Amino acid sequence: MIIVLKPGTTDQEREGVVQRIEDAGLSPHVLIGKERTVIAVIGDERKLQEKTLSAIPCVESSLPILSPYKLVSREFKKEDTVIDVDGVKIGGNKIVIMAGPCSVETKDLLSGIAGEVKAGGATILRGGAFKPRTSPYSFQGLGEEGLEFLSEVKKQTGLPVITEVMDPRDMPMMMKHADIVQIGARNMQNFRLLAEVGAHNKPVMLKRGLSATIKEFLLSAEYILAAGNDQVMLCERGIRTFETATRNTLDLSAIPVLKQLTHLPVIIDPSHAVGKTHLIPAMAKAAIAAGADGLMIEVHSNPSEAFCDGDQAMLPHNFKSLVSELQRIASAVDRVI
Ligand code: PEP
Ligand code: MN
Repeated sequence: MIIVLKPGTTDQEREGVVQRIEDAGLSPHVLIGKERTVIAVIGDERKLQEKTLSAIPCVESSLPILSPYKLVSREFKKEDTVIDVDGVKIGGNKIVIMAGPCSVETKDLLSGIAGEVKAGGATILRGGAFKPRTSPYSFQGLGEEGLEFLSEVKKQTGLPVITEVMDPRDMPMMMKHADIVQIGARNMQNFRLLAEVGAHNKPVMLKRGLSATIKEFLLSAEYILAAGNDQVMLCERGIRTFETATRNTLDLSAIPVLKQLTHLPVIIDPSHAVGKTHLIPAMAKAAIAAGADGLMIEVHSNPSEAFCDGDQAMLPHNFKSLVSELQRIASAVDRVI
């Protein structure tokens, strides 16, 4: 349920309503908007009598939230969420470009790639230190050392970093080194991990599971918001279909669908979606045209020697030309890069 407060409601009156919700054993989530303050009530709403609510002078109305996900829904929050990552705004008019290697390999290599993606137009550096690999014999990432390299390269370049968390116990390390924590496709429904990142004040990028529906995707995001963290962005990275010509099938329609259902920023990862370098530009352009708020692209200075995902790693100069082409698409849809 959403409780809409009257304009001019004082902080004290609002706190009174919050208290009443808590006394009924429910969880209030307050959203202070420019014109109106609304409170989402999560839990068994039968415990809150509609009649009692309308008797509270500062309550204007109460409405049910019909969708199964509440806090992530447009019903609860009409305006787009804009997440500020060290001054880089995600979800506003400017499209964010995140780029970098699949995994952090050496500090020098990371530093070189970071300099090149920054020169090419990226404003966030990606790099995995903990890698979710299909085979236990594949490179699993450098772990904490990789996170330290990310921090050092951030200091050199000024680029905020995004990196994947796979284990709730690693959150203290992530708080120290990451500007955005990524939850990978394989962990989209790792509910303990979702709750743990939800309990921290750190932006999160949640990737869509390999076979997850949009509803399941949004319910996973709901876990993070329900735990208290509303700095969440969603990433479509291709889903499993019968098609084998590409690594996955990029669900471009997820962009307008998500934009309609949720206020959270939508990022597209064309690299993991198509799995082949030459197919990335077309999908990146299509994503911007369809309304994505950002892209995540894998870039490596020597793809044939990459520890992971070399087939889909763009060379830095190709990445740079792609970003300049994307600028034209962005301006056609009244956005900037
Ligand atoms: C990644 O971005 O490094 C990654 C492993 O992606 P996904 O979880 O989408 O497979
Ligand atoms: Mn990868």
